[in-house]
Amino acid sequence: MSVIKVHDKTFETFLSEETIQKRVKELAAAINNDYKSKRPLFIGVLNGAFMFAADLFKHVEVDAEICFIKLVSYHGTKSTGKVVTSIGLMEDVFGRDVILVEDIVDTGKTLHEFLPTLLHQQPASLKIAALLHKPEATIHPLAIDYLAFSIPDKFVVGYGLDYDGLGRNLKEIYQLV
Ligand code: 5GP
Repeated sequence: MSVIKVHDKTFETFLSEETIQKRVKELAAAINNDYKSKRPLFIGVLNGAFMFAADLFKHVEVDAEICFIKLVSYHGTKSTGKVVTSIGLMEDVFGRDVILVEDIVDTGKTLHEFLPTLLHQQPASLKIAALLHKPEATIHPLAIDYLAFSIPDKFVVGYGLDYDGLGRNLKEIYQLV
């Protein structure tokens, strides 16, 4: 067990590099099996999912494409509430088998707001791959098709996830002490 400091906070090892890589390979194997003779379009959600999306994609053996988007949330008018839009989605999603790749589903709010926008573009299918999920934090339940790990409702960093900008380069995932 190693203990690290990121900014002012102390974190301890939670998921080792080996554990993460083994699980990522398992998810890729499931995707390879489910998308035989298809050509899925992976859409990675920046910034947090960049490392997970890259490692997952390395083990995909069917013909596949990948692109990345950023989700930006802002408050709309009173009647619309919070609005989540994407920037950088150049690919035509219409008729594609889309796999949205997220770092962590916490309350589910971000995806709950964004999925209708994506579905509006009429993909042939839409599945969600997530590195982490905090079931205890759920406000908007949603089905995660390819989930690497369910974790307790504690703040984590590493493997793409940051604490105030730092920690994304860690190969392991660390939990706040
Ligand atoms: P949701 O909309 O599901 O509540 O939040 C999802 C986003 O919150 C994630 O994409 C991530 O950016 C951020 N987030 C939620 N929990 C954590 C966490 O434990 N660590 C980090 N670094 N980010 C988190």
